[in-house]
Amino acid sequence: MKNFKLEPMDQGLCGGVWTSPGFKQLMEELSYDIGPRPTGSKGMQEGQKLLAAKLRKLGVKGVHTEPVPVRAWQEEPSRLELVAPRQRAYESLHCVHSAAGALTASLVDAGTGTLEDLDRLGLKLDGAVALIGGHVISGAKYVPLPRQVQRISERGGVAVLLRSMYQVGGSPAIELAAVTQPTSIPVIGISYEAGFELAAFARSGKAKVNLECAGKSFSTRCSNLAGELGPSKSQESIILSAHLDTFYLNPGSLDNLTGVITLMEVVRALAPLQTDFQRRLRILIYTGEEYGFLGSQSYVQRHLSELEAIRFVFNMDTLFPATAEGVAVMWSPTMRDYIHAVFQGIQRPLEVRNLFCMSSDYLPFLLQGVPAARPADWRNSMPIWSHTAMDTPDKVNLDWLRMNAMIYAQLLARMLRDPDPLPAVRKTSAEVESLLEKEQVIEAMESFGLMG
Ligand SMILES: [Zn+2]
Repeated sequence: MKNFKLEPMDQGLCGGVWTSPGFKQLMEELSYDIGPRPTGSKGMQEGQKLLAAKLRKLGVKGVHTEPVPVRAWQEEPSRLELVAPRQRAYESLHCVHSAAGALTASLVDAGTGTLEDLDRLGLKLDGAVALIGGHVISGAKYVPLPRQVQRISERGGVAVLLRSMYQVGGSPAIELAAVTQPTSIPVIGISYEAGFELAAFARSGKAKVNLECAGKSFSTRCSNLAGELGPSKSQESIILSAHLDTFYLNPGSLDNLTGVITLMEVVRALAPLQTDFQRRLRILIYTGEEYGFLGSQSYVQRHLSELEAIRFVFNMDTLFPATAEGVAVMWSPTMRDYIHAVFQGIQRPLEVRNLFCMSSDYLPFLLQGVPAARPADWRNSMPIWSHTAMDTPDKVNLDWLRMNAMIYAQLLARMLRDPDPLPAVRKTSAEVESLLEKEQVIEAMESFGLMG
């Protein structure tokens, strides 16, 4: 294994990150002055404009946007009421890209919406509203909500109530119900607490709900923001990426300004070292992650012929203390060993594991065989307010971002300056297919419109 060690450069990198005023400034500008940045919105455009100006100022070359066709969402109020055996109104959110509707129907508890849960309900699901528990947002593997909704509607369910995964002060979470075309039935997000209360009513066998929702799915355009550091003559590049988009209800300070701001500060730290780079760093700030990895999918399709030269993808999505202590490497045990050796050499006790995940914008690259990694939480300690109105800046400690930025700037500095080729090998399409089969995720990928 290669030997890395601490260098004078590290002091500059870490000191620069620790004293940078950029963290606070950018967090406040993007969270408060610009606010929520749903895909296809004015907020996204404004956020990108701000970041483009900052990237240019940092010395990033070729800063530009690339158009991304997207399906976007016009939010409208959602109403949910229990009408039998008792009367009670609940706060709710109409999930993105699910059908509008107004109906009254019986409520059944469909557990976590697995096939077994649906089989157990049998004919009771026909004509009923199904209450399900939703998936774990940070999970490495899961049945995506679009697939769950499809199964429920195929069995006659007329709407889905999606209970939030976490207890966040009674706030419902919003999720993506479909990717390529809207679902045929409404999907309504409700809080964790409301979910359990309604499940108790459902078990009585006599529960009925009345719901009304009018959100609309429509096609429009958004864009990714791109730029580069390093020698323009170099063929090889590494991608550093993060998504800027959010749902409409929150500024996304955790998901994903933590990733975007950390990326910006890593770029600030690395820019002065550009002349020593052996390969380019391509910086990508995506749209459409929350709506099914639309920005990264579009980028991959637009740049298919360049993928051979993209050695490795490092994507940052939702950072907090634990993500500065772990890295998940996908489909490259040799890069796992390489990254592990870097951290050993610079005395950072990170745990680097080989683990296939499908949580964010590295996924379209993996499907093309390009290996990837992400900061990972091995302690299951992700803050729980993602995708709720509670995702605001007051809850994000900027020292979390500083820790992540220092560590990943040190890692990327070594990957970019290494005179030897990186031990990252692109998988063939046959290898990709057999790995996906082994992970048993083909159905999940299809429901995201990522395959075929
Ligand atoms: Zn995210």
